[in-house]
Amino acid sequence: AIIVTVPLGVLRAPAGSTGAIRFAPRVHDVERAAGALVHGPLFKLLLRFREAFWSSGNRRRHRGFGFAHLPGGAVPTWWPSAPVDSGVLTGWAGGPLAEELSAIPPEVRRARALDSLQRLFGTPRSTLEELLEDEAHHDWQADPYARGGYAVTPVGSLGAARVLARPVAETLFFAGEHTHTGGQAGTVHGALETGERAARDCLDALRARPRAR
Ligand SMILES: Cc1cc2nc3c(=O)[nH]c(=O)nc-3n(C[C@H](O)[C@H](O)[C@H](O)COP(=O)(O)OP(=O)(O)OC[C@H]3O[C@@H](n4cnc5c(N)ncnc54)[C@H](O)[C@@H]3O)c2cc1C
Repeated sequence: AIIVTVPLGVLRAPAGSTGAIRFAPRVHDVERAAGALVHGPLFKLLLRFREAFWSSGNRRRHRGFGFAHLPGGAVPTWWPSAPVDSGVLTGWAGGPLAEELSAIPPEVRRARALDSLQRLFGTPRSTLEELLEDEAHHDWQADPYARGGYAVTPVGSLGAARVLARPVAETLFFAGEHTHTGGQAGTVHGALETGERAARDCLDALRARPRAR
């Protein structure tokens, strides 16, 4: 018996590509169900500034902000490192915006992130550039063992997770956030629950097998 816990993006990966799994014989129901879901694109940028510019000087009103949304921004969601006091901001984008960020060079990405922060806090671009000390870009699409952020259920695909959660020939068991049937796909706790479910199903199947003499 095997429990398969790779991300949806890897389950959907074309045969022969890095990380892809080849099932023999093919598991058509699983292929169809995985194909009906979308592994949603996600991008995260961490920018470290010399100081928490958003809460200094005449910008004190932003002190202690927890989460900021900038509609129309290339990087539309930002949060600080609270409760740790630091000059680090995390920028987050999902869906088509994340795909766009994946497709452009790092320096263009950085420029768009700083533009977003300028609009959000009113801090001049030149000041942001001067304060920026370090950065890290996390592109989940580019990681062949992730191939995206987490599962998204398109209209009409509500049954797909149920198919993925079903044992195949009492031999193959699938777990991972994309197999959660109770609406908790895309979360850590959802993923953990599917692992427990797959382990239980697997043990039940093994116990039900006739013992070899
Ligand atoms: C940017 C981002 C932010 C998130 N924020 C939150 C949040 O705030 N709260 C929350 O609850 N959830 C959040 N999530 C979602 C959460 O991280 C996932 O739902 C959860 O980690 C999925 O767990 P999993 O076990 O299904 O998959 P994973 O944790 O992706 O584990 C799958 C494992 O399979 C490995 N693997 C891949 N291919 C192969 C292969 N061919 N052979 C062997 N191993 C392979 C991978 O390396 C990986 O270790 C976030 C996700 C992202 C990307």
